[in-house]
Amino acid sequence: MKTFNIKMIVMTGLLFIGITRQQNSIAAEKNKTSTPNFIIIFADDMGYGDMGTFGHPTIRTPNLDKMADEGQKWTNFYVAAPVCTPSRAGLLTGRLPIRTGMCSDKRRVLFPDSKGGLPTNETTIASALKGSGYATACIGKWHLGHLPQYSPNKHGFDYYFGIPYSNDMDLTPKPKSAQDYFDACTKPRVENFNVPLLRNSEIIERPADQTTITKRYTSEAINFIKQNKKKPFFLYLAHSMPHVPLFRSKEFEGKSLRGVYGDVIEELDWSLGEIIKTLKQNGLDENTLVVFTSDNGPWLTFKDHGGSAGLLSGGKGGTYEGGMREPTIFWNPGGVKPGVVMDLGTTMDLLPTICHLANVNLPNDRKYDGYDISSVLSGTGESLRDIVFYYRGTQVYAIRKGEFKAHFITQSEYGGEEKKVQETPLLYNLELDPSEKYNITEEHPEIIKEMKEVLEEHLSTLIPVENQLEK
Ligand code: MG
Repeated sequence: MKTFNIKMIVMTGLLFIGITRQQNSIAAEKNKTSTPNFIIIFADDMGYGDMGTFGHPTIRTPNLDKMADEGQKWTNFYVAAPVCTPSRAGLLTGRLPIRTGMCSDKRRVLFPDSKGGLPTNETTIASALKGSGYATACIGKWHLGHLPQYSPNKHGFDYYFGIPYSNDMDLTPKPKSAQDYFDACTKPRVENFNVPLLRNSEIIERPADQTTITKRYTSEAINFIKQNKKKPFFLYLAHSMPHVPLFRSKEFEGKSLRGVYGDVIEELDWSLGEIIKTLKQNGLDENTLVVFTSDNGPWLTFKDHGGSAGLLSGGKGGTYEGGMREPTIFWNPGGVKPGVVMDLGTTMDLLPTICHLANVNLPNDRKYDGYDISSVLSGTGESLRDIVFYYRGTQVYAIRKGEFKAHFITQSEYGGEEKKVQETPLLYNLELDPSEKYNITEEHPEIIKEMKEVLEEHLSTLIPVENQLEK
């Protein structure tokens, strides 16, 4: 009898454990299969030092600062190129622009007279997710080809609202000199920048009223989130600001101690706050990964109308750190473990990371340059990335491996120092010397040798493709 009872207890216990395990595994399975949403917010030409949490003393960014406190602030996060078009191609495809034909030594970005664009056989984050039932929207600056065959709608986005290239293009009357252009950009009038505003393929306004552009992008983004709260979505919000000419809405005029540039960043910060608020109000915050970063460093040519790379040297257009290291934050309550991350990451890591989290397979017929960083986000692993390539146009100017960075070629961002091939590469330790001040080439011949091998190995992986920026 006793034995029977014990047996009964043991059996009941086992049954209970079995049920509990089954319940847990059902819950785990449910979490595993519940599809997360993704929002990438991409500022244009915002520098490493342009937000409070990255050290700016006079720009107020309470929403970005809170996002960083609640999420992960990445201090060694890079873009694929130091200018708009190739940087955007890298983010959306997870591939270096040299592999997609989206970089050039003659024309650094696409212009309104360009005939090329991102080839449609490239898989973007949007087209990858689209196949798994995601609703997708691109709101803001596209700059990957304005002709219909290259539009966001041809690259996996259900919906597009925005200015198809940079907000300084289509300047009228045409500037007669560099000074003319500088003046037009720093004392901007809406009517002088004849850029179109599109909804999908239709021009709905020209010139776009840029004073309300951040506000309208924000309201489009919020509408998209609300409309798709019951299905998985991907929102790529690529702000036109703070690319010059700088515009902000009435409410932000004259508000920042940092002048018009500060007003613009504070409006972007407001925009982020509205998006986070919308996620919370709709119960989507725990199931949505939000990433905030910038496409390249500050446009220093425009003096106080350009941003700041903080302690980094250089800016937009160049391959010193200020051109390509960007202020980056990941946020997802419960999904992203809060903290400061010093591991290496790049925008090209977003595609494999997002696809992993969404359980989406990528085509395996091409080379990707990104790594899945989801384990870093959840706090369960380290970044697999050890190398960053700094391309200017079609050439590798510098390589970072671990803490070291070797410059094979140096050149000023725009004008100034001519292109110089360094017979012996310049070498910096970025952990000790993030401002790249102290060349330590002579002390580390072994590192220089290693860097040359990394370069050779990398170049051997390149396959020539049609150049899209020279078409
Ligand atoms: Mg840019």
